[in-house]
Amino acid sequence: MYLSFKLSVRFTKRVYLLTLKRYFCGNLKETMETNKTFTMIKPDAVANGHIGAILDHIIKGGFKITAMKYLWLTPEKAGQFYAVHSARPFYNDLVTFMSSGPIVAAILEKDNAVEDFRKLIGATDPAKAEPGTIRNLFAKSIDANAVHGSDSDENAQIEGNFYFSAFEKF
Ligand code: UDP
Ligand code: MG
Repeated sequence: MYLSFKLSVRFTKRVYLLTLKRYFCGNLKETMETNKTFTMIKPDAVANGHIGAILDHIIKGGFKITAMKYLWLTPEKAGQFYAVHSARPFYNDLVTFMSSGPIVAAILEKDNAVEDFRKLIGATDPAKAEPGTIRNLFAKSIDANAVHGSDSDENAQIEGNFYFSAFEKF
C-alpha cells in the first residue's frame, strides 16, 4: 500500500516536471517560424535617398512589415551583429561601413520569407545581381550593397531579436 502510494507520487511528479519542461523549453526546431525574415537598409542606400523606393519594392514583393526602426549603429553594435564574419578579411571595413550612418531595420513576413527575400535582393555583389533585384537597382559595390537579408530561419529570428523587443513586433 505504502509502496504503491510512493510510486504514484513519483509518477505524478515526473509527469508534472515533463509538462513544465515542454511548456517552457519547447523544441526550438518545431516552433521555428518559416514566414519571417530580417532586413536592414544599409547606410549607402539611406544616404542616397533610396529608403522609400526600397520599402516600396519590398511591399510590392508581397512582404508585410511587422517591425521597423530607423537608427544609427555604434561600431560595437555593428561588430556584434556581424560577429559571424569576424574572421573574414572584410570584417573591419564592414563594421566601419555599417556604423557610418543611419540604417532602417525591419522584420518582414511572407510565406517562405528567407528564400523569397534573398531572391528579391539578389546576389551579394550587385554586379552579379539579377536585373530588377534591389541590389541590382540600388547598390554600387559588394561592400556597400544597399540591403541585408537573413540567410536562414534561425538567423532571421536571432537578427530580429537583436533589434526588436516583444513589444515592438506586431
Ligand atoms: N561583404 C564585403 N565583401 C565581401 C563579402 C561581403 O564587404 O567580399 C559585406 C557585404 O556588405 C555583405 C556582408 O559583408 O552584404 C555580409 O556578407 P555575406 O557573405 O553574408 O553576404 P550577404 O548575406 O549580405 O549577401
Ligand atoms: Mg549574409
